[in-house]
Amino acid sequence: MTARIIAVANQKGGVGKTTTVVNLAASLAEQGRRVLIVDLDPQGNATMGSGIDKSALSRSVYHVLLAEHEVAEVVQPAKQGGYDVLPANRDLSAAEVELMQELAREARLKNALEQVAANYDYILIDSPPSLNLLTLNGLVAAQGVLIPMVCEYYALEGLTDLVNTLRKVRLAVNPKIEIMGLLRTMFDARSNLSQQVSEQLARHFGDKVFDTVIPRNIRLAEAPSHGLPALIYDRNARGAQAYVALAAELTARLEPQTTTAEQ
Ligand code: ADP
Ligand code: MG
Repeated sequence: MTARIIAVANQKGGVGKTTTVVNLAASLAEQGRRVLIVDLDPQGNATMGSGIDKSALSRSVYHVLLAEHEVAEVVQPAKQGGYDVLPANRDLSAAEVELMQELAREARLKNALEQVAANYDYILIDSPPSLNLLTLNGLVAAQGVLIPMVCEYYALEGLTDLVNTLRKVRLAVNPKIEIMGLLRTMFDARSNLSQQVSEQLARHFGDKVFDTVIPRNIRLAEAPSHGLPALIYDRNARGAQAYVALAAELTARLEPQTTTAEQ
């Protein structure tokens, strides 16, 4: 069995990409899955949110993309949470320019992950808030994209660019890539707008929309400053439990159920 590789992407910033990567990783790990986070954002938020000091890194995903180190030489365990991290920091912003002169520049991450894919059940890739070469490396490496989004007025319009990019990626480099799911984050069930946007989403994307919604929850915003997933920081928080539910929904979708007869 080789890892399911999921890129968490949306070119909008502040929609919950990093929060989703860290908390989904911790929830999957708690449910017995082996998980690796790949931080592809030079801001290094997923790295810091996993309790790893980005300013103290001697090796990072930058060195992997430039083929200076193998993934196994760079991976670190999260401080708590039971998952691994391929960490990032500011250095990564230089990689975009430096990769321009390199061969197979959009397939660097895909090629590098092949060596560790057998060691994990899930690899979750955190993307920067743009559709650049780093994001593209994530989309080329992945089998599916998980799109976190906030149910606001222009939410659907914002998805058009991403859907168009995915179409191009599919045609040019990665025919297998598909939308694995749309995740409504910072959700306010009482707001009419949330309900309206949810209906539009269901119309356009059908059952690609996860049933699980992530509520707006202060514990999810506080946990990263402690370098912890919310599940460890305050396991009963509504936000933490929503990601536990998301992990269950995701594994039910992606993992074929084995019947007792087969065991
Ligand atoms: P992105 O990675 O897409 O830029 P983040 O995950 O960093 O987005 O989230 C943006 C901000 O919102 C962060 O400060 C984060 O802690 C906060 N946040 C994310 N999800 C929630 C939520 N469900 N409830 C409350 N705050 C959230
Ligand atoms: Mg982020």
